[in-house]
Amino acid sequence: MALIVQKYGGTSVGSVERIQAVAQRVVQTAKAGHGVVVVVSAMGKTTDGLVKLAHEISAQPSRRELDMLLSTGEQVSIALLSMALQELGQAAISLTGAQVGIVTEAEHTRARILDIATERMQRHLADSRVVVVAGFQGISSQSDLEITTLGRGGSDTSAVALAAALGADFCEIYTDVPGILTTDPRLVPDAQLMDEITADEMLELASLGAKVLHPRAVEIARNYGVMLVVRSSWSDQPGTRVISPVPQPRSLQGLEIAHPVDAVEFDTDQAKVALLRVPDRPGIAARLFGEIASQDLDVDLIIQSIHEGNSNDIAFTVTQNSLSRAEAVAAAIAPALRNSAAPLMGEAEVMIERRMAKVSIVGAGMIGRPGVAAQMFSTLAAAKVNIEMISTSEVQVSCAIAEADCERAVAALSEAFGVAGRAAKSRRRVRAADLPPVRGAALDLKQAQLAIRHVPDQPGMAARLFSLLAEQNISVDMIIQSQRCRLIDSVATRDIAFTVAAGDVDAALTILQAASFSFGEIAVDRSIAKVSIVGTGMVGRPGVAAQMFRALAEAKINIQMIATSEIKVSCLVAEDQGVEALCVIHTAFGLSGNEQIVVPA
Ligand code: ADP
Ligand code: ASP
Ligand code: MG
Repeated sequence: MALIVQKYGGTSVGSVERIQAVAQRVVQTAKAGHGVVVVVSAMGKTTDGLVKLAHEISAQPSRRELDMLLSTGEQVSIALLSMALQELGQAAISLTGAQVGIVTEAEHTRARILDIATERMQRHLADSRVVVVAGFQGISSQSDLEITTLGRGGSDTSAVALAAALGADFCEIYTDVPGILTTDPRLVPDAQLMDEITADEMLELASLGAKVLHPRAVEIARNYGVMLVVRSSWSDQPGTRVISPVPQPRSLQGLEIAHPVDAVEFDTDQAKVALLRVPDRPGIAARLFGEIASQDLDVDLIIQSIHEGNSNDIAFTVTQNSLSRAEAVAAAIAPALRNSAAPLMGEAEVMIERRMAKVSIVGAGMIGRPGVAAQMFSTLAAAKVNIEMISTSEVQVSCAIAEADCERAVAALSEAFGVAGRAAKSRRRVRAADLPPVRGAALDLKQAQLAIRHVPDQPGMAARLFSLLAEQNISVDMIIQSQRCRLIDSVATRDIAFTVAAGDVDAALTILQAASFSFGEIAVDRSIAKVSIVGTGMVGRPGVAAQMFRALAEAKINIQMIATSEIKVSCLVAEDQGVEALCVIHTAFGLSGNEQIVVPA
C-alpha cells in the first residue's frame, strides 16, 4: 500500500461533471488499497473572478482581505469533491489549510510554507478516509489563525509540500494537458510530450513562463526528493516524471525557507571578450556566435545590453586558453559590423579581459527571494570586489569579476551564506552527450524592462540598487550592465538594464526615483517578451545559443537583450513578436512533432 498525494487544478474540477470524474479516479486509487490525500484548486477561473471583484471595490485591496477572499475558492472545491466521493461510497473528509495545520509566513498573498502538521491527516488516513485538502492556502501561525495564500498557481506547492511532510510515495499533479511539453501547447500546437525532465530544467522552465508547475513546487520536490509526476486528468497516459537527485536529509521545519543558498562556486578559468557599438539589427548575435561555434569554442556567459543610439554591446566569456581564438573571431568580424545607421560611430570595437573569474551562489531556496541576490552584491561590495558581469537564473546568481579578486570574493560569500566554497565543475567534463541540448522553450509576456542610465561604476552600486528593490520584495531578472563606460562629470558610469514582473514596474520606478543616489534617466519598456530555451545538455556544447540567435534572425526578429546561465539562454524581443519567436525557436531545435495536443477549453 502506497501513500499518494494527488492534486487537481482548476480546469480539472471546473464543473460538477469534472468533479465527479475526479472523484471516480480518486476512488479507483483508494480501492487499489492506497492512502490518498487530494489537493484541489478553486473551480475553473474562480480565483481570477475573485481578484476582479476585489479590484472593482478597491484599486489596491488590502493583502489580508485578498487572502480572506481568494482562499474561499478552494473551500468550495474541497467540500464538493468530498461530497462526490461520499456519493460513490468512499469515506472522505475535506480540510482547509488551517484545519490541517499548514503554517506559513505572515506574508499575505505570497506566503511560504514553514511547517505542516500531519497528525490529523494521518488519523483520517488510518480510518480509510480520503483526505481532501484546500490548496494554495495556509495560516500564519497556530495561535492567530490568519489566513494566508501562497501566490497564484500555489496549489502545486501545497501538494508537493504535503507529499514531503507525509513522506508520500509520490505526488501526482493532474492538469489539462498530458504532462510537461516542450512548450506551451496553447501557443505552439505541435509541442511534444516529454517522458521525463530534470528538476533543474523544470525549475528554469517554470520560472521562465511555463505555468504547468509552480516553481516552488519543483523546488520542494528537488530538496526533499519527492517523486513528482504531471499527468492529464482526462486520460490514463503516464504523463511526465520530474527527476530529482537524491537529496541530503533535511528537516521539515522551515520547509520553504531553510537554506536559501546551498553552495558558493568559483571558476578561475574565464576570460571576457566584449564587442562595443555593434549595430542594433537582427542577425548580429547570430553571426558572431555562429563564427565562434564554428571554431568549436564553448561560450559560457553571454550578455547583450540595451542599446544607446542604435548600437549594442555584446560580451561573453570563454576559457582562458580559447581566448586568443575567440578574440581573433571577434576582431575579424568587427570591421563588418559597421553601424550604417550611425556611420560616425565607426566599426565595432573589441575589448578583452584576460584574467577573469566567475563566482556563483547556487541553491533552489533563492526562488522568489530577491534579497538573496542583493545580499550577494552587497557582500561583494563590502569585500571591495567590482562586479563586471551579472547573470541570474532562478537557482543561481553568477558574477564575473577580476581573477585577482576571486579568493577574497569566495571567502566573503562563504561566510555570508554559511556554506563552503567549491570549484565549479569544468564545463567540458560535465558535458552530457546523451541529453538533448534543448529540452524545452518558454515565453514570458509578463515582464517589463527598466534601464538606468549612467550609474557610477563603483563597487556597491548593484548592491544598493537591488537591495532597495528587494526590500519591497521585487524580484529582478536578466540584470545586465553595459560594457561601455561613459564619463559624466568626470565619473565613470555604466548603464544597468534589468527586467521585473510587469506588475512590479511602477513600484520599482517609484523606489528608484526616490533613491538618494545619482544616476541618469530611467527608461521603461513595457512591450517586451522574453523567450528562453532550457536544457542541461547545452552545457559544454558549442553553438546552441548561436542556433537560437540564427532562428530569430531568419525570422527578422531583433534581439533587445541576451542573458544566459548554465542551462538556459533568454532573449528579450518586442512583445508582438513573442509568440512567433517562441514558434521559430521551438522548430529550430527540432522540438516540434506530428501530434497535435488538444487542450480543453
Ligand atoms: P492547473 O489549473 O491544472 O494548475 P495551469 O493552467 O496552472 O493548470 O497549468 C496548465 C497549463 O500550463 C496548460 O494548459 C498549458 O497551457 C500551460 N503550459 C505552459 N507551458 C507548458 C509546458 N511546457 N507544458 C505543458 N503545459 C504548459
Ligand atoms: N486557485 C489558485 C490560483 O488560481 C491556486 C491554483 O490554482 O494553483 O492561482
Ligand atoms: Mg496551476
